Amino acid sequence: MNALNADLHCHSTASDGTLAPADVVRRAVANGVDLLALTDHDELLGLPEAAATAAELGLRFVPGVEVSVSWLDQTLHIVGLGIDPSNTALIEGLAQVRGGRDGRAARIAAELERIGIRGAMEGALRYAGNPALVSRAHFARFLVEIGASRNVHDVFLHYLARGKPGYVEHVWATLEDALGWIKGAGGLAVIAHPGRYRLSHAEMDILFERFRELGGDAVEVSCGAHDGGQLLAFARLARKFGLMASRASDFHGPEDSPIDLGRADPLPPDLTPVWTRLN
Ligand code: AMP
Ligand code: MN
Ligand code: MN
Ligand code: MN
Repeated sequence: MNALNADLHCHSTASDGTLAPADVVRRAVANGVDLLALTDHDELLGLPEAAATAAELGLRFVPGVEVSVSWLDQTLHIVGLGIDPSNTALIEGLAQVRGGRDGRAARIAAELERIGIRGAMEGALRYAGNPALVSRAHFARFLVEIGASRNVHDVFLHYLARGKPGYVEHVWATLEDALGWIKGAGGLAVIAHPGRYRLSHAEMDILFERFRELGGDAVEVSCGAHDGGQLLAFARLARKFGLMASRASDFHGPEDSPIDLGRADPLPPDLTPVWTRLN
């Protein structure tokens, strides 16, 4: 076990998590987390409540965000840690990324309508704690509710992943913009769950190289999405590119997540944990 139980990536109802920010913090404390970052998708709205609850309970808290990025033909997620939530360029950049989500959600609903699933927009909105942030996770919960699939995992297999009938292409922020906003707001930039990206070894190397050039700091080596082999593979890439390592549950809620807050695997001991650079 790492000496510190750090969990530097999770979600609240400000994006597609199912717990309010204060409840995420309470659960982290109950689980023995020592250092927590809330990293909602493209959104800072949950940070004040989480920070206040963490202060009350004596938990070390780091303001964070998970920025949606288009790179090559993939969607990547870049986590920003220790960002200043009052930074104007960050606030405006994220508002721009969120702004694309409404139109995208309408296109997802239209695609689902074509295969006979009606009312998906209203259905997804009922699950969205923040109407400015409709995510595929909200559509997934609606599709489970109407019995289209047994669980959220199956929804992604059959409906919402690329190549499936409810998937639509969308252009998110550029990698350059995401790094610019995060670094400009005084944050550390982290490549989220790299094991989820469909990139060749050569493409992954190009991504890490470019990320480094843009001032990127770390990579999630231990995260809910990685198996043991992926943890070792991305530990190797962290060493190769001189990146620090992060540990992340990517918790979305008790019903929805394979890994609970504070329960991701420990980092290999030779890597530098990104939290050594967080106050
Ligand atoms: P979006 O940002 O709207 O594209 O939604 C992405 C979110 O959908 C992720 O952050 C997860 O919460 C969820 N998600 C994506 N793929 C899966 C999957 N295979 N299983 C479960 N949830 C997923
Ligand atoms: Mn999510
Ligand atoms: Mn993500
Ligand atoms: Mn996430």
